[in-house]
Amino acid sequence: MDPKTFRKHAHDLVDWMADYLEGVSEYPVKSQVTPREIFNTLSTHPPQQGEPFPNIFADFVNKIMPGITHWQHPHFYAYFPANSSAPSILGEMVMATLGAQCMIWDTSPAAAELEEMMMNWLQQMLDLPPHFTGVIQDTASSATLCALLTAREKKSNWEINTSGFGKQQNPKLRIYCSAETHSSIEKGVKIAGIGKENCIKIPVDENLGLCTDELEKAIQQDLSNGFVPMCVVGTIGTTSTTAIDPIEKIGIICKKYDLWLHVDAAYAGSAMILPEYAYLRNGLEHADSFVFNPHKWMLTNFDCSAYFVADTKSLLRTFEILPEYLKTHNRGQVNDYRDWGIPLGRRFRALKLWFVLRSYGVEGIQELLRTHMDLTRYLQTQIENHRDFEVVFPARFNLLGFRYAPQNIPLNRLNELNQRLINKLNQTGKIYLTHTKVHNRYTLRIVIGQPNSTIEHVQNAWQLIEETAAQLV
Ligand code: PLP
Repeated sequence: MDPKTFRKHAHDLVDWMADYLEGVSEYPVKSQVTPREIFNTLSTHPPQQGEPFPNIFADFVNKIMPGITHWQHPHFYAYFPANSSAPSILGEMVMATLGAQCMIWDTSPAAAELEEMMMNWLQQMLDLPPHFTGVIQDTASSATLCALLTAREKKSNWEINTSGFGKQQNPKLRIYCSAETHSSIEKGVKIAGIGKENCIKIPVDENLGLCTDELEKAIQQDLSNGFVPMCVVGTIGTTSTTAIDPIEKIGIICKKYDLWLHVDAAYAGSAMILPEYAYLRNGLEHADSFVFNPHKWMLTNFDCSAYFVADTKSLLRTFEILPEYLKTHNRGQVNDYRDWGIPLGRRFRALKLWFVLRSYGVEGIQELLRTHMDLTRYLQTQIENHRDFEVVFPARFNLLGFRYAPQNIPLNRLNELNQRLINKLNQTGKIYLTHTKVHNRYTLRIVIGQPNSTIEHVQNAWQLIEETAAQLV
């Protein structure tokens, strides 16, 4: 495709993109295809000759689009949102056009320096402790893995990096997190060679936050049984219910037993830009590492995860490797971000973040987050006032849990009833919700975090939920 043809197709494509964004609510929010339906429409062999782009794009529209779940649909209330925004999309387009692989400073000095400044901006916006230094990772899962690996190396005095587990006579390292922690922690523990049996799930209190008494008991028991406690992962905004662990108290325990404290604020970290949520920062001064995802609730396209560490030297010591072909004369004076995480190759993610932060400004983002929380509180009031529905957990941010609980239905049938309700709702294609279980109660989660969701959308969603539920019994 020569530049002239590219220009023509790119212009057409931008028109399609703008039409898509304008009309996204016309699509079924959750893809309605059945397993293998898309696969069976695809050519079983690669083409021998190249094809014209319009043919390929027509196939994209006809064959691929039906299998897309529309994450930017205003009625997408599932999981956590993966916000996108026009400035961020433009950033992605420029990034793809440059095609720069930003592994070290030399391979695009601007990428490294813009990343450093964007992390400084985020640190100021969230008012994070000044001793933190930030780096962009692809996902919170990778950031947590970096934290676990650095904590492991620090604990073993970099012996495991050097000699593997053998020389350490397989110390039984232990990680602690609450029973509500995201699955990426256990995954990280498996990948770090620590073994998932050594990921100790600490019980939670009635607010679903980690019980610090239980944590300390588990640490003491492990010490007396010859284990080596290594790290505690605390969460600000758990995936199921946005519960908050008591980071301050956890931090004090970590200091007492010399444990790494990693704080996972993947979703709710964005709320720290609001002065009314300043309390979320309590105890962060004790943290060794902290992660939150602008790609969830800060208008930046997936992927863009902000990882902050207190001790950059330990991070670099864990990850750096220096083959001859990557040696540069300015090493030590610049940030070579390949040493700050797992992959060598890196995308220029700071660019879309820069576009987003400059386009919205801090106040624009604050306003959007507050709108989401207002809409969620509005919905919560509707649910509270309905005699056949109950709030299972109230909105701390913009996620709330509820269930259909008509008085004439026995309690032991409610889980099955709500399961049917969510399936029926999602099959309409008009709305997409996901669920969790809270104290064994099947609970519908609704997250109102789309930049294009309005009060009318929320009212329509609520009406659909009410009507669909009424048809069930
Ligand atoms: N931590 C929490 C609390 C999450 O809710 C999630 C995802 O929803 C993750 C970690 C994993 O995020 P990522 O997809 O960026 O790895």
